[in-house]
Amino acid sequence: METERHIVAAVAEVYAFIDSRVAETDPACKVCGKCCDFDTYGHRLFVAAPELVYFAFHISPDSVKPMPGGLCPWNIKGLCSVHPHRFAACRIFCCTGDVDAQNRLSEAAVAKLKSICEQSNIPWQYMDLKAALSRISRSGEVST
Ligand code: SF4
Ligand code: SF4
Repeated sequence: METERHIVAAVAEVYAFIDSRVAETDPACKVCGKCCDFDTYGHRLFVAAPELVYFAFHISPDSVKPMPGGLCPWNIKGLCSVHPHRFAACRIFCCTGDVDAQNRLSEAAVAKLKSICEQSNIPWQYMDLKAALSRISRSGEVST
């Protein structure tokens, strides 16, 4: 439990770091939700193990759903229904943004998330969202 709280707080710091950097670049996201449909959009979202712990801590277990197709199950009518708790990649990606700057920010965020694994003594895992969803059980627990 203590470890879980530490991870949740540490991931929140990483997200605050990302959000502050993204705010500096003022991305022109139109919130259309198209990039949350991964198959149609043609990209993938990777999630780190500590992010799953953070996510399971904050969301209702009832909202945990599989991802049978390419659309993120938390995208409801184009809008993110878990916006305050969305993943690092969701925070960083913007279709109109500077790709190199996004890659640099992503590398910095991954380094911080790896460091959380080392400090918390949990294995480093970085997985596709569809695979990640199978790690969050309906009880809200995460198998890392
Ligand atoms: S980043 Fe682009 S595709 Fe994704 S929601 Fe914003 S405007 Fe739409
Ligand atoms: S968590 Fe939200 S922003 Fe991220 S892919 Fe799902 S609906 Fe889109």
